[in-house]
Amino acid sequence: MDISVIFDLRNILSPDRVLRDVLLKEHTTFKTGGPAGAFVLVENNDELARVVVFLKNREIPFFVLGNGSNLLVSDSGFDGAVIKLSGSFNELSVSDNVIIAGAGVLLSKVCLMAEESGLSGLEFAYGIPGTLGGAMVMNAGAYDGEMSYVVSEVTVLDGEGIVRTLSCEDMHFGYRESIIKHSPMIVLSAKMTLEPGDRAEIHNKMADFLQRRKSKQPLEFPSAGSTFKRPVGYFAGKLIEDAGLKGKRIGGACVSEKHSGFIVNTGGATASDINMLMETVEEEVYQRFGVKLEPEVIKIGKF
Ligand SMILES: Cc1cc2nc3c(=O)[nH]c(=O)nc-3n(C[C@H](O)[C@H](O)[C@H](O)COP(=O)(O)OP(=O)(O)OC[C@H]3O[C@@H](n4cnc5c(N)ncnc54)[C@H](O)[C@@H]3O)c2cc1C
Repeated sequence: MDISVIFDLRNILSPDRVLRDVLLKEHTTFKTGGPAGAFVLVENNDELARVVVFLKNREIPFFVLGNGSNLLVSDSGFDGAVIKLSGSFNELSVSDNVIIAGAGVLLSKVCLMAEESGLSGLEFAYGIPGTLGGAMVMNAGAYDGEMSYVVSEVTVLDGEGIVRTLSCEDMHFGYRESIIKHSPMIVLSAKMTLEPGDRAEIHNKMADFLQRRKSKQPLEFPSAGSTFKRPVGYFAGKLIEDAGLKGKRIGGACVSEKHSGFIVNTGGATASDINMLMETVEEEVYQRFGVKLEPEVIKIGKF
């Protein structure tokens, strides 16, 4: 990244909020990824709009980093700006049966607030290790629930730097899909409308879901959750296992012995190891069963 861009960004924000040489492996749950051209901490809508307009005018690629729990970042990193939302993006409030959360708030925190307030509907999301922003983009879901069932409004910054409010319909939510994934929009916050419920029941449901995760998923290793989307009519993990790929390794990357739907970093895996293993799995499953596995994990940078 051109050093003049760093200086200009530091003038827009402040020197301590535009960092160089930040390794993205420290910001992803896969624990892989090289340096960001610039790592930019943005604290409010106004700053975000100024940064986005600047980057667009200079034609500098950028992306918003949530909790990095669905990303495979290249070993060579990302030669652009990585925007991390902080400050006012971490605000969380509840009023009656409505929770409003900033895009940077961890989903688990939103779930705990719902539980504390005796509000039901978000139990499924407890244990998904992402931010509210990432959960909107991915329409995160589990155990027959997904964000689209509870979201009533999403506030975004559009490609022109204008703040807009989208309804749930406007979001075009689908299976691990939303309009945000295919547009330059950035999620600022979301409003979730929940149902009054019994606190103990909500608590027990969340504890049960968490326990199920612990018993079925290889949470002891770095990963990005399910590597592939569920193909219509199949389960990715079962296809991978039936193709004899459970435990298959490339470098430090391994198809989990505990859950074949997860590729894990057993220690020292490079992004390239993980990418090669993903491609091997896709190829073998296609050869064996004629089913095309589509990555759920988003790849960033050059592979
Ligand atoms: C152990 C484990 C278990 C998991 N279980 C589940 C599960 O049960 N269900 C499920 O759906 N997922 C699961 N995941 C995957 C992941 O947690 C979700 O996809 C989550 O929603 C990603 O959120 P994030 O904040 O980490 O986003 P990131 O991974 O940081 O980003 C994902 C995408 O969203 C974009 N993005 C993030 N924030 C914004 C924003 N504010 N505005 C615009 N774009 C943004 C990023 O640019 C990127 O394209 C799991 C992951 C792990 C590691």
